Amino acid sequence: MRLDELGEFGALARLIRDAGALRDDVILGPGDDAAVMRFTGGEDLVVTTDAFIEGRHWREGWLAPAELGRRLVAANVSDLAAMAAEPRWALIQYGMPRACDIAELEAIQSGVARALEAEGATLVGGNLSSVEGARWLSLTLLGACSPGLVWKRSGARPGDLVGVTGSPGRAGATVRLLERLGVDECASRFSLLLDGFRAPESRVAFARALAAADGVSAAVDLSDGLAADLGHLCDASQCGVELDLRSLAPDARLEAAAAFLGIRADELQISASDDYELVLAVSPGSADACASLAARHGVPFAIVGRITEKSAGRVLVDANDARDWPAGFDHFAR
Ligand SMILES: [Mg+2]
Repeated sequence: MRLDELGEFGALARLIRDAGALRDDVILGPGDDAAVMRFTGGEDLVVTTDAFIEGRHWREGWLAPAELGRRLVAANVSDLAAMAAEPRWALIQYGMPRACDIAELEAIQSGVARALEAEGATLVGGNLSSVEGARWLSLTLLGACSPGLVWKRSGARPGDLVGVTGSPGRAGATVRLLERLGVDECASRFSLLLDGFRAPESRVAFARALAAADGVSAAVDLSDGLAADLGHLCDASQCGVELDLRSLAPDARLEAAAAFLGIRADELQISASDDYELVLAVSPGSADACASLAARHGVPFAIVGRITEKSAGRVLVDANDARDWPAGFDHFAR
């Protein structure tokens, strides 16, 4: 049934029904004017928000509706992971055309609810608007952290090592492949990359364990690209950095994509890509503990550079020479 047949309140009733099980600390969930949660234990509240716009973050067919919901949750969860915070409650907003079928909206919402559930978090409310143009969805994610224990971008110091989780560049490469090949051919030729794009992994458990172990001086999540996000961390920390491309693990999936796209694989590893991984500044004495904790959590982890004095600037080192620092994704850059 279309949204303009069901009406706003009919649609909302269906979405509320499908919002998933509530956490015990939710006093009043979706359906009233506001949600009520009981916050105890003197923790710090940590909040983030992210939106996906059709044509900008996804195109028709790239993601099944439930995968779209899951990826939106992943974008927000990744921000909380970069703060070493635990996701708890979420608010969702949808901007959908009148002709949209409620089944599609319910499928998106089931992806959102399941992905939140996997984090131990709950949808506590939302909003539904009609749009004439592009569809969009936006999530606000609230979480918690022990007092004063959040990671910030601003804590890195010269001498710290730079660690990164996962395989940076894969998401950006997948978007390039989808744009070039279309979804069907991308799915048949680069299925593993596309599968990873559709189901990003959470780094919350690793981040929480790492924060408890101490040793991380600054963190940012990988949502604009490795060079760009590391640049954000250096801006906030007033530091320089040396990123050694030779220390990034060879990535066969990325190499196959690079060969097809006519780009160097290490170029893909550092350029615009929303991988939802972590970039960490780690004190030199903690790097080994960090690596073994990552291994215990099944999280790929590599030391890829070091923080330097601001005056040393940003240096990219590869097998041949030093290179220019690339730009990452910027919504408003020309
Ligand atoms: Mg972020």
